[in-house]
Amino acid sequence: MSDYTHILVGVDLTEESRPVTQRACALSKAFNADLSCIHVIEPLSLAYGGDIPMDLSTIQEQIQETAKIHLAEFAQTWSIAAENQHLVFGRPEIEIHNMASQIGADLIVVGSHGRHGLALLLGSTSTGVLHGAGCDVLAVRVGQT
Ligand code: AMP
Repeated sequence: MSDYTHILVGVDLTEESRPVTQRACALSKAFNADLSCIHVIEPLSLAYGGDIPMDLSTIQEQIQETAKIHLAEFAQTWSIAAENQHLVFGRPEIEIHNMASQIGADLIVVGSHGRHGLALLLGSTSTGVLHGAGCDVLAVRVGQT
């Protein structure tokens, strides 16, 4: 097995991003690998479709601006270079896969709540990332079960 060369960590910008990124950062140092991060903004139109009869573009722009600032602040604390910080729109699991192949990542790191029962049936981002990933995926256990 060869060493990892480029690690991609998915950050949802909640408190749980910290332990997940800490693990990704430690692995990148251990393997002397590049570290990139991605935050995916789910478009309001995807979540609400035509259910809300109003123009959501201004709110969407504000969400993007806020996310951009938070991602830059967060990434800076982990010394992740600006060119390795990625902010994209879409569904997290799909965009994380796309970004991993775009940057040639050989390990994706995400958080996992280790949910079970109904929540497991409904799925989670970590489950979605694991399915169909073109490289290794590490699910870092976070939060309470
Ligand atoms: P969740 O299934 O939503 O609890 O998320 C599990 C993990 O998936 C998080 O700890 C992140 O690593 C990743 N993730 C969830 N949402 C996003 C997002 N919007 N952008 C990037 N990564 C995400």
